Amino acid sequence: MREPIPLSVPNICGNEVVYAEQAIGSGWVSTAGSFVSDFEAAVSHYCNARSAVACQSGTAALHLGLLAAGVGRGQAVFVPTLTFIAAVNPVRYVDAMPIFIDCDDTLCMDTEKLASYCEEECVFDGDRLTHIATGAQVTAVVVVHVFGNLADMDRLVGLAEKYHLSVIEDATEALGSRWESGRFAGRFAGTVGTVGAFSFNGNKIITTGGGGMLVSNDEGVAARARYLSQQAKDDSLYFIHNEVGFNYRMTNLQAAVGLAQMEKLDLFIRTKERNYQRYQQDGVELLPFREGIRPNYWFYSYLTPYRDELMEYLSVTHAIQTRPIWHLIHSLRPYATAPHGVIDCAPNYVAQVVNLPCSTDLSEGDVDAVAAAVLAFSEDGSV
Ligand SMILES: *Cc1c(COP(=O)(O)O)cnc(C)c1O
Repeated sequence: MREPIPLSVPNICGNEVVYAEQAIGSGWVSTAGSFVSDFEAAVSHYCNARSAVACQSGTAALHLGLLAAGVGRGQAVFVPTLTFIAAVNPVRYVDAMPIFIDCDDTLCMDTEKLASYCEEECVFDGDRLTHIATGAQVTAVVVVHVFGNLADMDRLVGLAEKYHLSVIEDATEALGSRWESGRFAGRFAGTVGTVGAFSFNGNKIITTGGGGMLVSNDEGVAARARYLSQQAKDDSLYFIHNEVGFNYRMTNLQAAVGLAQMEKLDLFIRTKERNYQRYQQDGVELLPFREGIRPNYWFYSYLTPYRDELMEYLSVTHAIQTRPIWHLIHSLRPYATAPHGVIDCAPNYVAQVVNLPCSTDLSEGDVDAVAAAVLAFSEDGSV
């Protein structure tokens, strides 16, 4: 009997141990140390962003991004309902109100619905966009590049410019995805908004155990985030703090692992692309990525009307781990009273998507085994 096949596990296959030992040997294990700036340089160089700020998590990067963009109390922020809750909670951390928007067939925010919400539920006076029902000023949009796909940023950034909104790009799942056509051709996920956030949690395309990074082409925004991430320290000796900051800085140990992982990013993307194609060659049709982009192929989505039965079958009969996508956030308890637009697309995907194994060390033989099990389930008349 072969080993169980997990959904998505870390792949520590390069210089991680070497660099971590160097960090430990140097004595610099905490937030000071050269690996932090080296890792920031590696990420900003890879995705061609002017500045990068390494953080404790993707959630922290998103929180700092909202603060650095000036989002605060009493304001409103457009967010997707189909995403991981960490994309939305930081809106509450800054005492702003989320307004939930549906997804399109890429699982990312539907820009058509965003446009009609702005027209029908808000008023724009040439400077400010005001949400009519609550009187709150809408100042930002958090857009998530779901599963390494890319949102329709041509349209979204156009709307943000029209309505004077900051764009917080949640690129936590999309490190390395880039546009190949349109206004942003050649640009990478995370670098077309006001700020972008990456995550290096254990299941992301690269990992530091836990960690994140904020990137921005606006050096002022990045400097503000960096300042807040280090307890808003205004003086190197006498502990002068003129604001309430956060302990959000990444440690040198995490960054040592991250630097080694960055050396493998292109290899990881190639492996994920190869396995994505292999599933299809094996006859398992996966949700396509948007045209005109080079995704990082982070997660694979398979659609079935028998979601729970398929997951159960794969787990029990074949020791294959899969998962459904997220419960819609606007219907979760903390957000049940928040405003939302028309949501009639996301529920269909929630009901049908099963994420199949996609680790970067998944062999072609593993893919064939998963594909055979998925097809066996279908041929059984779906059990
Ligand atoms: C992983 C993830 C985050 C949060 O990242 P952490 O590093 O776990 O804090 C935020 N948004 C989305 C969409 C994610 O998938």
